[in-house]
Amino acid sequence: MTEYEPVIGLETHIQLNTQSKIFCTCKADSWEEAANTNICPVCCGFPGVLPVLNRVVVEKAVLLARAMNSQIRPLSYFDRKNYFYPDLPKGYQISQFDQSLASGGYLDLPMPGGELRRISIHKLHIEEDAGKTKNEGGKRMIDYNRCGVPLVEMVTGPDLRSADEAAQYLIRLRQLLRWLGISEADMEKGHLRCDANVSIRPAGADHLNTKTEIKNVNSIDAVREAILTEIDRQKAEVTAGHRIESWTLEWDENRKKLKKMRSKETEADYRYFREPDLLPIRLDDAWKNTILADFPELPLERRSRFMLDYSLPAYDAEILTSERSLSDYFETAVKAYQGDPKKISNWMMNDILRMINDRGMTAGELKLTPAFLAELVRLVDSGSINTSTAKTLVEKVETSGRNPAAIVETEGLGLVSDDSAIRAACEEVIAENPNETAAYKAGKSTLIGWFVGQVMRKMRGKADAQKAGTILTELLDS
Ligand SMILES: [Zn+2]
Repeated sequence: MTEYEPVIGLETHIQLNTQSKIFCTCKADSWEEAANTNICPVCCGFPGVLPVLNRVVVEKAVLLARAMNSQIRPLSYFDRKNYFYPDLPKGYQISQFDQSLASGGYLDLPMPGGELRRISIHKLHIEEDAGKTKNEGGKRMIDYNRCGVPLVEMVTGPDLRSADEAAQYLIRLRQLLRWLGISEADMEKGHLRCDANVSIRPAGADHLNTKTEIKNVNSIDAVREAILTEIDRQKAEVTAGHRIESWTLEWDENRKKLKKMRSKETEADYRYFREPDLLPIRLDDAWKNTILADFPELPLERRSRFMLDYSLPAYDAEILTSERSLSDYFETAVKAYQGDPKKISNWMMNDILRMINDRGMTAGELKLTPAFLAELVRLVDSGSINTSTAKTLVEKVETSGRNPAAIVETEGLGLVSDDSAIRAACEEVIAENPNETAAYKAGKSTLIGWFVGQVMRKMRGKADAQKAGTILTELLDS
């Protein structure tokens, strides 16, 4: 039987997080607004109005193009993409066609085996969004709030070979968009939208077969599921001797099924021509250099550097670079601590990450600053507090915003290393527990752990456990 391999390309629409829309001053984000309250004659395409380009849209798109290793064109043009649809009041969408802001590029995906898969980028351009149509109670409702919201459309080559790789691409793209601070990249809110082109071919072949396009998938899990479903369908069709037709399919999230929307249009149907109401984008070196002046180190580079500079395991480096503010936090804490970076990593991977997730904050918003974390770990190192006290201290610092040493001081959380105090507690425990003492003396030496536990309880966790053990052994053996 023939083995088939999937061939997948993704088309993504990324909503840029600008204050205003791409060609007018209406607010860009309408997530919490009532329908048709965030509109003006420009984004509704009234006759006689003129669009004015929002510079920030170009700047954010340039950051993305640079991160995708694309060639940025010094001169690019807007074009009209003509089609008729109720949620497109102008009857055309302002987009970019043959001379878009950037061309080519790639995104590297780290694979589970440690190798990188390079996914090519075929198209990267800016455009305006259309409105939203929804069907409710037998009526078709149109909301124009989304008209004119800035988008970057980005299309990959047919380079992805599995539903998991497609999901990985979206995970990495989302990470990058948030890292650059150019999009909220929330798929549920439509900030990051994805259509998938799927075909199959005999494994090892290098030709492309007819593809189908899956639309309206609004989570990464749904993209994975929809692609898997479509690959299975195509395999079954081809095995049964049928031809794959170039359909547009819609993913029904509730029924976990694909349904046919329409046979696909071709590019020619859109009758593209240059947008006469807008000047070309002239991105001279001065402007480009200003935009790219603070271009950050990207997640994968930073991940490698953390492994190299701080000898972190790949697992730690991956988690600590999952988000930019978290990785900044780690690095600042390591510098403040000046000890073993793995210790800072351990505290972050456990206590700090849990706190961030519980409170829905970013690392940069914590009152427990990197400097405070470094101080807290040093208090453990010096034996001033034990690990369990340090864990409660994490919460106390975050709640109060006070520095760890001051809290230890005022709340008396420091370890008691005074021998006579520990010795007194040990003597009390032995006197209060004659049965266990007898059992220990009769040879049940494993009871020593239980005795240490009792001493710790008596001293409310503040005893130096090792010292308590030594004193107990001495007393019980005498
Ligand atoms: Zn407007």
